[in-house]
Amino acid sequence: MLERNTELNVVFEHSGEEIQVTLESLVAALNDFLDHYGVKSLVGPSFYGIIQAGEGQAKVARLLEACGYPDRPDGFFAELLAKLGKADGTGPIVINDVELPHLLLMAILEVILPGERFLSIRSTEQLEKVTNTRLADGDRANMQAVLDTYPVRLSMHTIRQMRVSRDVAYQYMPFLEELDPAGHTNTWIGQFHQGLLEQMYENRVIFLLNMSCPVYCRFCFRKHKESRNEANPTPADVQKAIEHVANSPSIKEIVITGGDPFMNRKNMATAIDGLMEVKHVQCLRLATRSIAYYPHMFLSDDGELLRYLKRKNLELQDRGKRMEVATHFIHPDEISPQSLEIISDLVRSGIAVYVQTPFLNDCNDQGPELVRLFSLLRGAGAELHYIYIPCSPIHGNTVYWAPISKGLAAGGYLRAHLSDRVIPRICTATPIGKMDWNSSGWAVEPVAENDNFIWIRSPYTPDYFKQFAPIANELENIRVNEEGTIDIQYMAQIGDESLFLGPRPLRLGGGMTPQPETTDAVLPLLTECGGIAPSIVQTGSATLSRVHETRVEIDADAMDEDLYYIRGDERITDVVVVSKTDAVDSVSQIRRIVRALEETPHVNAVRLRSLAFNYQPERFTPAVIDQLAAMNRLTMVNPLRLEIETQFLTADELRPEHTRLARQLNNRGITVYANTPLLGRINDTAEAIHLLAYTCRQAGIEFHHLYVAGLPVQERWNRDNPVALYDVVDIATRVRREGSGREIPRYIIRTILGEVDFGLSSTIVGKDEALSVKLLPYDLSYFTAMAPDFAWPETVKEDPAGRPVVPVAGLLKTTDFALS
Ligand code: SF4
Repeated sequence: MLERNTELNVVFEHSGEEIQVTLESLVAALNDFLDHYGVKSLVGPSFYGIIQAGEGQAKVARLLEACGYPDRPDGFFAELLAKLGKADGTGPIVINDVELPHLLLMAILEVILPGERFLSIRSTEQLEKVTNTRLADGDRANMQAVLDTYPVRLSMHTIRQMRVSRDVAYQYMPFLEELDPAGHTNTWIGQFHQGLLEQMYENRVIFLLNMSCPVYCRFCFRKHKESRNEANPTPADVQKAIEHVANSPSIKEIVITGGDPFMNRKNMATAIDGLMEVKHVQCLRLATRSIAYYPHMFLSDDGELLRYLKRKNLELQDRGKRMEVATHFIHPDEISPQSLEIISDLVRSGIAVYVQTPFLNDCNDQGPELVRLFSLLRGAGAELHYIYIPCSPIHGNTVYWAPISKGLAAGGYLRAHLSDRVIPRICTATPIGKMDWNSSGWAVEPVAENDNFIWIRSPYTPDYFKQFAPIANELENIRVNEEGTIDIQYMAQIGDESLFLGPRPLRLGGGMTPQPETTDAVLPLLTECGGIAPSIVQTGSATLSRVHETRVEIDADAMDEDLYYIRGDERITDVVVVSKTDAVDSVSQIRRIVRALEETPHVNAVRLRSLAFNYQPERFTPAVIDQLAAMNRLTMVNPLRLEIETQFLTADELRPEHTRLARQLNNRGITVYANTPLLGRINDTAEAIHLLAYTCRQAGIEFHHLYVAGLPVQERWNRDNPVALYDVVDIATRVRREGSGREIPRYIIRTILGEVDFGLSSTIVGKDEALSVKLLPYDLSYFTAMAPDFAWPETVKEDPAGRPVVPVAGLLKTTDFALS
């Protein structure tokens, strides 16, 4: 056996680079990694089966044994280094049939390729050396042309990731097809742009504080000369933009972005300090991808930047405002312990972190990789905000384009296999603003004589732009449709012709406008309709209901057998605790459940249902909040996140005490979200839901689901007061057009077989009020995998493709149009 200070050699096969490392430093890194991060959720079940529980040293010993090197770390590392020397990320690294997890390899690479600097790559030779790749001789000239056209800059963090992940390399590594001229230079047309300020929406603006990024993602317009070489604004320019905001009372939110705005701290400080004093500003959203590819920026100097943000957030809170951080992850291989730590730290301090994900062909376009990515981020405390389909059509990024149908199919996969709390909105950023698929917008038809473009119905109207961007109405690629909204041409392939839904006709009929009702009429029903939801499969227990593959509802007085059921099924990630009265009445029972779930690492969220949050907020005393906070575990390793699930029917129900309470809980890292049933004559108008969405956001409450149909209270109330599907599209249109993107709920239909997204993962069949819903993400095997003796309930029919069709009550179809 070699001495521990023995030096081992790594020879990088393609670059020829040789590096010496001590065995001692490698063993220490391995031990440290397994000790802290050797848990199933981070290393995967089969690797965890090898290392098992225990201390780092015991895990190292088991790993060495399984790899065929018992007590011989020198042999293990000699083989591992030889494999890392050849690695280009396209295949796993396997020793004696043991596949080593990506995060473990990253920990070892931090020893071999240490540092946090950036490298600008100017020549093909340098590219080969840094990335350990070899170009074919015939490709060199073209690759040099790529480097001269679109520069390459990489952080050491990404360089390490790229060595062992093809999916990270795919995002940052230059490629010859970048010279393909198809696509745009920019996805917007400049109609909203004035200096550093961009106003695409009436209620929010973008501040572009820094025009460059630490790295250049190959799919992004930033790599273009005209984008990256734009002059950076000065603090005086920032001040001018703040004055514009101060003079525009309709602007409530500022998205501070770039490039990476944190690369210009002077501008960042000027913006935060100035906007803080503008009375009508409610929220600052700071956008950075550095959490994924340059976590060092946040963690260096003992987390100086994190401390700065927390300080500024408190100052904002003193003025009734808040800060959020927007970031972006694409593939689970980008996740690092450092990035999870940054997210948890911010969320624990009351700064919401939300994630946006561009949908990249051949990278994150199937579903399972997004399930893993979003689950890890959620455990750390992040909210999942958008998936952008398709990736923006920029010059030289055709390899990343996927048809719309693929994005929607991935959305269906997520609905079946991911917690409902983590499913992002599926949207497209058109040149005049975003639209959410098959609710606030849809594909209308192909553009005549241009195979590369489709018409998309947007939620925007000519009137909307008149006030702040009248030039948007003069674009040549738009038209105003019969319902008065704008259709815009968008460069994309549809992938499935049946997704062209055509124009929405005007509403048929009309008749008498029903008298609106107040919430008082329905409140007694809410109490009667409490309790856990019906189970979609048999659980054998009256106190445990399986409502999704990933989620159960459990009575606060649950039996031990219920907890065994949860423990025995690793697909369950979410437990909703439902008390006979309210969560605040059952804190000690909840503590018992949480304690039991601490031994159940696949569960990463406990959600407490509480109507008292709305109707008796005073019952959340400091003692209750403190006890709940003590149960909330926002950590990198085996997180168990606590959330409050409440319900608001109308904006009138929200009062200042709800804002105060939500803030107290947020500052202890506890998220509050609201689910709202759409109720005929009570809140089924665009105005009512727009106001509710706006007021929830102001109060710091996440508007999670707007139930279109299917909750018990809807089954009772909406039979006599049906909700028109036409109104659902009007609601989605208005909320998208006039609200913040952060206000938009998911439009959900609940059925006896589970939940689906209105328009997206479901289709409505039938006429008038005799309607059924086809559940696109599910088939019989989905249910038998949870309960082998499952059979379709009597009322369910199966379509020829094997998908269930379930009757739905309380809805009214007024036209032949698919969504209305
Ligand atoms: S970090 Fe964001 S803005 Fe910068 S290049 Fe990547 S995607 Fe573009």
